[in-house]
Formats: sequence, structure tokens, C-alpha cells
Amino acid sequence: MKIGTPKELFDGEARVAMTPDSAQQLQKLGHDCLIEAGAGVKSGFDDALYEAAGVTVVKTAAALWKEADVVAKVRAPSDAEMKKLREGQTLISFFSPVADEKKMQAAAKKGATVIAMEMIPRISRAQKMDALSSMANIAGYRAVIEAGNNFGRFFTGQITAAGRVPPAKVLVVGAGVAGLAAIGTSTSLGAITLAFDVRPEVAEQVESMGAEFVYLDFEEEQQDGSSSGGYASVSSPEFREAQLAKFRELAPEVDIVITTALIPNREAPELWTEDMVKAMKPGSVVVDLAAEKGGNCKLTVMDQKIVTDNGVTIIGYTDFPSRMGAQASTLYATNIRHLLTDLTPEKDGVINHNMEDDVIRGATIAHASEVTFPPPPPKVA
Ligand code: NAD
Repeated sequence: MKIGTPKELFDGEARVAMTPDSAQQLQKLGHDCLIEAGAGVKSGFDDALYEAAGVTVVKTAAALWKEADVVAKVRAPSDAEMKKLREGQTLISFFSPVADEKKMQAAAKKGATVIAMEMIPRISRAQKMDALSSMANIAGYRAVIEAGNNFGRFFTGQITAAGRVPPAKVLVVGAGVAGLAAIGTSTSLGAITLAFDVRPEVAEQVESMGAEFVYLDFEEEQQDGSSSGGYASVSSPEFREAQLAKFRELAPEVDIVITTALIPNREAPELWTEDMVKAMKPGSVVVDLAAEKGGNCKLTVMDQKIVTDNGVTIIGYTDFPSRMGAQASTLYATNIRHLLTDLTPEKDGVINHNMEDDVIRGATIAHASEVTFPPPPPKVA
């Protein structure tokens, strides 16, 4: 089959879904690889690198969409790309099936197959294809780097001839994939790192990374603000009040706050209120990784950096993975390559879209002229 990757059209997007390395692996599965000219330039892969890896460079997006049996890209298709999608073709990309329901229906009507990368089930076997996690890992790392870039001080404490420098104090709210990456980055830079999550089971992980888990003034059995199944749910009003009271106490002493708290399929909970921002020291920084879902910080402006009257910088960028285009492309292209490995079980260049396979079924939102979203729950844990 011909696997093709077009240039991303979304403004400012630096990622690309195929790298020279991933293309070489795809060829070992018996596939031919195509790339639109210039598609990898923003993440550091020029056309010559693809050619050297055996990839055919195609001049235009139109030609690429026409030739490819499978189109692998990062962002959900634009309206123009939807027009190019055709019967029998497979599209693999992020594709929010709820927000983009009409596009999903249109793809099914055309007889195209769509695999949505955010729908890859979060089961152990699928971790190597879990693009949400690989992007969240980058976002968590980059959030700390971005905070450091806007914080006029060291992270680590120092004793210098010019005087003693105290270490920075960082609070990470939400210890999922992005939060844990932020915690690891912050501790490795030498900051005193505190972390909170509604799921108390992450406390051990947080502590093993050298950070301090923030406990609330609650009875031990009531610490659990989460639902079953490993995912957070909406906290009770009492739990939320205790959480906000603890954050109010911490606001004047923390230098950097990284918020990553999300609840599946909901707007982000508001956890860092205006009075907390007001209580922070001038020069402090808030990086809100939940900005796309409304933000955890009341004052966050999506895709902007603002500075408040009391000198607190609040960063609401939503393109952290793209800010590390080379790394993000390498990990994303590897996720795609693993998915295509499962889709090519005989390694003979033939795609077997096995809807009995939990992972393939879970991520497929349009197939055989039908909308196949939502999927049944996965059988394997
Ligand atoms: P996420 O991005 O959905 O949310 C981030 C974190 O915010 C979560 O840890 C959540 O508990 C926390 N949160 C929600 N409300 C909060 C609040 N009010 N205050 C503080 N924290 C709050 O999380 P994620 O990174 O996608 O991880 C969610 C779960 O999925 C975790 O259990 C994780 O281990 C699991 N997971 C499993 C796999 C896998 O097995 N392949 C891969 C990734 C994640």
C-alpha cells in the first residue's frame, strides 16, 4: 500500500506524521511511502532526508491525496482535505469525533476509513500507539521549560560568592501523563516540587520522582476525589473546597504553577482562582496546560501569554508539542508506525483492517460506509 503524509495546514503547526526513520520501518512492512514536498521542514526533516530513506517526494497535496491508499497526518482534516478524502482510502490523524461529528459522517458516507489517534484505547498493549500520552509527555516537559523562560530566577538553589539563591518552588496540579512529565522536569532542574491530584494513588509515583504530594485536610479515606477506572471525575463540593483552601495557602509561597487537571469529556475544572493569582509574588508564572478545555486558571487566555497587574505571567499556549516539532514528530510518527504494524499483520504491504482487534476497533470512527463511533468498551485491560 502507499502510505502518504501531507504538509500540515493548521497555522503554526510544525509536526509531521512521517519521519525518515518511521518511513524506513513502514517500508519493512512492505509499504511504499510518499511525502508532500516540504512537509517535514518545520520539524527539521528536509526532502533530501526523506529521499535518502526511500520516500517518494510528491510536489502537491492534491497529488499526494490522489496517490496514497493511507493518509497519515497530525491534525484533523481541514474542509479542503475532507474534499480530497475518497472512497476506499484510510485516514489516520487526530480527529475529535464529537466536535467533528459532521466530518466523521461525511467520511463514512464517502466510504473512507478514519482512525482517530485520540481514540486509541488506553490499555497496556496499545501504549506504543498512544499519541495522546506521547504528546502530553512533551507538553508537560515544555510547560516547565516555558515557565523557566519566563521566570527571572534559577530553579535550583545556589550558594554563590554573590549570595545565596533559594530554590524555586513549583506546584503541579494534576499528575496524569503531562503532570508527571512536568514533575520530572521540575525536580531534575532542582526546584522544590509539590504536586496534587484528586487520585491519591498517584502520590507514590509523585514521591518516587522526588516531589512532595500535597495532602488535603481530609480524613484519609476521604482523600479520594476520583472515580473508579483510573480516571478523575467531578469532585464533591467539600473536596473541592478543601482543595481550594490548600491552594490558597500555597499561592503566596509558590513561584511557578503548572496546571494539567482534566476530567475526560468535560471542561477543565477551575482550580487556580483570581484571588490565588493576586496572592502570588510578582515574577511568578502560571502555565495552564488545560487552556484548550477552558483552563484551570480563571485568568488564562487561550493561546496567549498575559502579565497581570501584580506581575504574574499566565501562559495559555495550546501548541506545546508543536513547539518541539522534531521531538513531537519523532514520537508521533513512531505511534503511527506501530499502528500500521498492527494493521499489516503479514508484513506484506497489505492492510488488514481487523475490526475484531480491540485497539483497531476502538480507534476506528468510520469504516465500510458506516460511522463506527462510539466503540464498544475494550475487552482487555
Ligand atoms: P488527563 O490529561 O485526562 O488529566 C490530568 C490529570 O488531572 C489526571 O491525573 C486527573 O486525575 C487530574 N485531575 C482531574 N481533576 C483534578 C482536580 N480537580 N484536581 C487535581 N487534579 C485533577 O490525564 P492522563 O494523563 O490522560 O491520565 C489519566 C489516567 O489515564 C491516568 O490513570 C493514567 O495513568 C491513565 N493512562 C493510561 C494509559 C495506558 O495504560 N496506556 C496511558 C495514559 C494514561
